[in-house]
Amino acid sequence: MNVLILGSGGREHTLAHKISQSTDCENLFVAPGNAGTSLCATNINLDILNFEEVAETIKKNEINMLIVGPEAPLVEGIKDYFDNREEFSDLKIIGPSKRGALLEGSKERAKEFMRSHQVPTAAYQSFSKETLEAGKAFLKTMHPPYVLKADGLAGGKGVLILKHLKEAQDELENMLTNNKFGKASEKVVIEEFLNGIELSVFVLTDGKNYLTLPNAKDYKRIAEGDTGLNTGGMGAISPVPFADEAFMKKVDEKIVKPSIDGLHKEAIDFTGFLFIGLMKVGDEPFVVEYNVRLGDPETEVVIPRIKNDLLEVLSKTAEGKMQEIQLEVDSKHAATVMMVSGGYPEAYEKNKVISGLDKVDESSDIFICHAGTKSKNDQVLTNGGRVIAVTAFGDTYQNALEKAYQNAEHIEFDKKFYRKDLGKDLV
Ligand code: ATP
Repeated sequence: MNVLILGSGGREHTLAHKISQSTDCENLFVAPGNAGTSLCATNINLDILNFEEVAETIKKNEINMLIVGPEAPLVEGIKDYFDNREEFSDLKIIGPSKRGALLEGSKERAKEFMRSHQVPTAAYQSFSKETLEAGKAFLKTMHPPYVLKADGLAGGKGVLILKHLKEAQDELENMLTNNKFGKASEKVVIEEFLNGIELSVFVLTDGKNYLTLPNAKDYKRIAEGDTGLNTGGMGAISPVPFADEAFMKKVDEKIVKPSIDGLHKEAIDFTGFLFIGLMKVGDEPFVVEYNVRLGDPETEVVIPRIKNDLLEVLSKTAEGKMQEIQLEVDSKHAATVMMVSGGYPEAYEKNKVISGLDKVDESSDIFICHAGTKSKNDQVLTNGGRVIAVTAFGDTYQNALEKAYQNAEHIEFDKKFYRKDLGKDLV
């Protein structure tokens, strides 16, 4: 089978690495990919939002399966684009239709979906420019902290959590009338603050059946003690120590099943990964957000724990044969530490030489996942804010983190930075 993965981050390198081990994988391509994906696949330089270009690549390389890594092409309707073209009727696509992707593309839509399918989530209302005054009045009825969310995609920056009413009302006005987040904040969801601890649950679905993959906890903030600016993610662990069997049973019954049943009832074409961001409040799970693809860096700890042949699992999912899959999960713990460029998530420099990759422990317990890298003249250079995720396995998350940290020390680039406190919040 010939496979094309779209994307260029750690998520795509992890997927490529895993799929390259599948017995059915003949030719594997990643577009645009990075220095890591070039070690296990062929990189193709193309614009993943230019569907014509993607189509040409698929025809030229006789691709049988397209796996869409990031959300943007999904929200733009890449699945519908190929579904509407007869010549691609045999192409298997991992990623939902535009209607499915709206669960990530519009927070208002996601909240409506949860409300209509009784999925527990924070109480909310949504507002537009025309209803600004009603929004300000609604804020008065809420308790601090106030949670304001731009409806559309805002690169992970569209959520504001504010302590004071006046500040929240001013920001609401900024978002709705001064386009603080551009088109993304033409509508704003105001919701109740959930006081708890976050975790992520990953589901693979064909829109009717589903498999719950290993869960994970990521570390979003740049600085130690989980402080400072939000990032794409500074590390992750799987499984989540505080998500015991009883809690996960609740997650399945109250969250996952009603969400997938909701997709089915609404006849939403959804073959792919559903990421469910949860808040554990006391012993109860609440949905914070849906993403319609795998998360990064959670993928780096979730996918390697799946023992099955991933290509076979994805093929069966796309063929509507999910019942035939018996998911096997490694009982080992996985941890990943994200090494970033100094300055990230604000301004940072690129093109720094990365050294020491050859000093990393080559045992099967370590996986060096490239996030923002590129190759040039036999060198590996930094090419993004998040550069390399060092994933390690162990009998406990502490042990896995220890190994990841030991190996991160060998890898050098100018102004490298990583958090050294991952896992410490769990003790
Ligand atoms: P991401 O960058 O993860 O894609 P996003 O911009 O899509 O995020 P959300 O995930 O909805 O937005 O919110 C971002 C973060 O804000 C959450 O991970 C959580 O930490 C916090 N948050 C969101 N909603 C709430 C809430 N109701 N109560 C408490 N914290 C919240």
